[in-house]
Amino acid sequence: MGHPLRVTVLGATGSIGLSTLDVIGRHPERYQAFALTGFSRMAELAKLCLVHRPRYAVVPDETNAALLRDTLSEAGLNAVTEVLVGADALCQVASHTDVDVVMAAIVGAVGLKPTLAAVQAGKRVLLANKEALVMSGALFMQAVKENQALLLPIDSEHNAIFQCLPTQQGNDLRALGVRRILLTASGGPFRTWPLEALAQASPEQACAHPNWSMGRKISVDSASMMNKGLELIEACWLFNARPDQVEVVIHPQSVIHSMVDYVDGSVLAQLGNPDMRTPIAHALAWPERVDSGVSPLDLIRIGHLEFETPDEVRFPCLALARQAAEAGGIAPAMLNAANEVAVAAFLDQRIRFTQIPILIAQVLESEAITAATSLDDVLLADRVARQHAERWLQQRNL
Ligand code: NAD
Ligand code: MG
Repeated sequence: MGHPLRVTVLGATGSIGLSTLDVIGRHPERYQAFALTGFSRMAELAKLCLVHRPRYAVVPDETNAALLRDTLSEAGLNAVTEVLVGADALCQVASHTDVDVVMAAIVGAVGLKPTLAAVQAGKRVLLANKEALVMSGALFMQAVKENQALLLPIDSEHNAIFQCLPTQQGNDLRALGVRRILLTASGGPFRTWPLEALAQASPEQACAHPNWSMGRKISVDSASMMNKGLELIEACWLFNARPDQVEVVIHPQSVIHSMVDYVDGSVLAQLGNPDMRTPIAHALAWPERVDSGVSPLDLIRIGHLEFETPDEVRFPCLALARQAAEAGGIAPAMLNAANEVAVAAFLDQRIRFTQIPILIAQVLESEAITAATSLDDVLLADRVARQHAERWLQQRNL
């Protein structure tokens, strides 16, 4: 083997970023941190820089850059790690000629440009930032093809589906003998709550996921099942599926991470403990396998696996996402933007949990759904949807 693969971790200080660096740290002969980026939790970023000694660190502003430079020079690492500032630097470290692998683990629409920069530079791109793909769908997949990037899904469901399909993405599912994709969902913390209680749900309750420990935005998305809606759209792009070829199945144990149902009646599933280091290690090493640090699955202790149909009255976000998937064009970008504003407003306690889908539905109805033929179309749809959402909040003095 040649040199260790040089990895840029976009969003190194987040839940996925930290899990990625945990796996990288287990295999110093195979992987080396090339650039680490963070937007908040600067003390965490400094700590990561001391351990992983990347060539670059990216921070949001000059104040944080000065602080990080001080810490690095105290540790004698100022010649090892160069500190860069701002959004352009994210694209720079994502597309740098010396980078082999980019982990796209920034949360939300802000991750689109750097993720796309990695794709355009033809990198091996590990995609956790599902919002980027949801927003720009066809354009993103076209860029993957044109630049011969290797796109590997990190979302546990999509990583599972990838493992259960015979070849890479972009194929004709029917030709592969696939009847449908079974996208599993835990149902989140509110699956069994009385419906009337949902209006009183607090951010803390929404973020207390039964099986996974994740960032706050995706935790709220899991509680509303918008996460599964975004994942439905993500699956359509990654695996060249129509929305009606993807069925959502509630599976509260989160042991089966998704399945592929074939025309001969075979159903292939990928199982494992709910720990993101498994899909991360899979995508880092693919087509090889490396240890992830995840403990072996103990099926006897788990005992039983359950399955249910999702309740679209309880989870209106799921239906909204399916509609956006079917509408196509700028609809998924608008859905995503409205959801980001709604989730932030819920986390700030400006709106109730049950107002999240109401706000999103309003935004989707406020604009004609046009085609998304360029990145500018997508970014404009994102901006306009955010403006509509903010206006909705202001009109209610929220
Ligand atoms: P997180 O909130 O823990 O981390 C987000 C990261 O993005 C942090 O490093 C943060 O500093 C960075 N960031 C936030 N705003 C930024 C900005 N404006 N500019 C630059 N960087 C910014 O989130 P997470 O749970 O790690 O999720 C990251 C992505 O992975 C999300 O898209 C999420 O949907 C996806 N994902 C996460 C999980 C999980 O288990 N956590 C599972 C599947 C998919
Ligand atoms: Mg997922």
